[in-house]
Amino acid sequence: MFEQVEVFHRPATVREAVRLLAGGKGRARIVAGGTDLVVDGDPTVRTLIDITHSGLTYIRKQRGVCAIGASTTMAELEESQTIRALAGGVLARAAATCGSVQIRSVATVGGNLANGSPAADLVTPLLVLDAAVVVADAKGRRRLPIAGYVAARGTKALRNSLLVEVIVPVPKGRRCGWSFQKLGRTALDISVVNVAAGLQVDGAGRIQWARIALGAVAPTAMRAVATEGCLLGRMLNAESVAEAAEGVTREVSPISDVRASAAYRREMCRVLARRALEECAAQSGCPL
Ligand SMILES: Cc1cc2nc3c(=O)[nH]c(=O)nc-3n(C[C@H](O)[C@H](O)[C@H](O)COP(=O)(O)OP(=O)(O)OC[C@H]3O[C@@H](n4cnc5c(N)ncnc54)[C@H](O)[C@@H]3O)c2cc1C
Repeated sequence: MFEQVEVFHRPATVREAVRLLAGGKGRARIVAGGTDLVVDGDPTVRTLIDITHSGLTYIRKQRGVCAIGASTTMAELEESQTIRALAGGVLARAAATCGSVQIRSVATVGGNLANGSPAADLVTPLLVLDAAVVVADAKGRRRLPIAGYVAARGTKALRNSLLVEVIVPVPKGRRCGWSFQKLGRTALDISVVNVAAGLQVDGAGRIQWARIALGAVAPTAMRAVATEGCLLGRMLNAESVAEAAEGVTREVSPISDVRASAAYRREMCRVLARRALEECAAQSGCPL
């Protein structure tokens, strides 16, 4: 693997990593845990830039947000008390489902997002948490909503950019519920379907806002925006949950592949969305 790689860098700063990436003539790649990059084995790569010593391994809670450095591993997310306490631990739970212990000890947050798999397990919880990312390139740093990053990844707009950190607003208010649901062929597999949900109800049990995100059922992970809209102002009960679970099946566009047929994936969207909303209901004080 990578016999053609000519240079390996381990920059100590983001600035240096970005400079090396920009000078790589399209043949340089960032490497963090390597769990996707090595499997991919792109024969055009000549330069590897290891960012695991670039100061991007941190989890910081500050001024109403939680900032997570790009080279923070899944294991660090899973074990962090800050991440476990954030939004019912939805992000920690998603991290805990990413492959085996061995994979989670090296696989990073940045790699999970930058690799661009529609099945990446951190994207759906980050969508429902309304997270943003900071990217850096030769022109400087900019902040993008997570949905914008996922949509633009792989395009010219993000060429030669380094994902620096993920910013998660710390949710405020009472009577919120959060859930992450994953279906894989085995406990170690990537998702056949994954669903994350978050919502808040008022004192009467009426839905103030709801977010539902689905992975591995469209070219990129997606929010079920129409279904979310239908839930607004409704009572959170078995009827509204069943209608929402049905609603998401009309918004997804799954394909058949080696892991599952499109029809099975669509049906599992219904099942996982119902389970996710039921868990949110229980957490928000409206058990069904
Ligand atoms: C056996 C196995 C099981 C797995 N199971 C799961 C699973 O259950 N769920 C899941 O979601 N994933 C799973 N994966 C995929 C993988 O482990 C994750 O996507 C992981 O988070 C990738 O992180 P990494 O640090 O290893 O990325 P790398 O392999 O180092 O990089 C992946 C890609 O992202 C780019 N990149 C990395 N970091 C950055 C950055 N900061 N800025 C810009 N570009 C960057 C690299 O250039 C490369 O193109 C599995 C992989 C394996 C091999």
